[in-house]
Amino acid sequence: MMTIGCHLSSSGGFLKMGQTALEIGANTFQFFTRNPRGGSAKAIDPEDVKAFLDFAAEHGIVRPLAHAPYTLNACSKDEKIREFARNTMLDDLKRMEYIPGNCYNFHPGSHVGQGIETGIEQIADMLNAILWPEQRTTVLLETMAGKGSEVGSRFEELRAIIDRVELGDKMGVCLDTCHVDDAGYDVVNHLDDVLEEFDRVIGIDRLKAVHLNDSKNPLGAHKDRHEVIGGGYIGIEAMERIINHPQLRCLPFYLETPNELPGYASEIRQLRALYRA
Ligand code: FE
Ligand code: FE
Ligand code: ZN
Repeated sequence: MMTIGCHLSSSGGFLKMGQTALEIGANTFQFFTRNPRGGSAKAIDPEDVKAFLDFAAEHGIVRPLAHAPYTLNACSKDEKIREFARNTMLDDLKRMEYIPGNCYNFHPGSHVGQGIETGIEQIADMLNAILWPEQRTTVLLETMAGKGSEVGSRFEELRAIIDRVELGDKMGVCLDTCHVDDAGYDVVNHLDDVLEEFDRVIGIDRLKAVHLNDSKNPLGAHKDRHEVIGGGYIGIEAMERIINHPQLRCLPFYLETPNELPGYASEIRQLRALYRA
């Protein structure tokens, strides 16, 4: 059974996201924990969460993936901005305990001229300040395109962050197909080699989720512009290999393609048809 869904608006609450997922043929989904630009989060409604968990159990909706606001920067030069990232993520992680056992994905950050080493240290410092032993959420570092001064476009950088986190068992990685291609990892022609490198550098057991996106730009472009499935430089044949790869096929796939709901529904249908039983 393929686990596939897409990014959904969280403004209607958890039950609504579960219902929408079902309507478009998804059995998972991703959502922002709050306005993607940051700001305060709506209070969690325990009734809504309870209704969602019942609905999800009944309809086989699994592994909802939370995504942190993409404007957070754990390795800003500005201490106030780092503090904001830390407080926001801690608040998000506390809220994640309402849906225990799931994952929370974030963009490691941009070092803005401080250098990769300092960036890595500041990101790990933040994680060491907010993770706690009893938390039931796994925190995922997203593989980045390497736009500007983004940290995390090389597998080595993600490994270096994880190595510095004291509660390392709380950490995982989310592989974004558009981003890794942008970063120069050739998932179109050398998928086996890329995954072998991931395993050697990070460890394949850390891989917990895949963002399935085509790319508007060629290998190594460092642009981070998502394209609809089959409409970009990755292409439908490579997508078919990705979703069926023995090391990936059991992971949850989340579409972040430029689509409205009908477009997502059709991509999910198309990909399910290409998934080998
Ligand atoms: Fe992301
Ligand atoms: Fe992504
Ligand atoms: Zn992206």
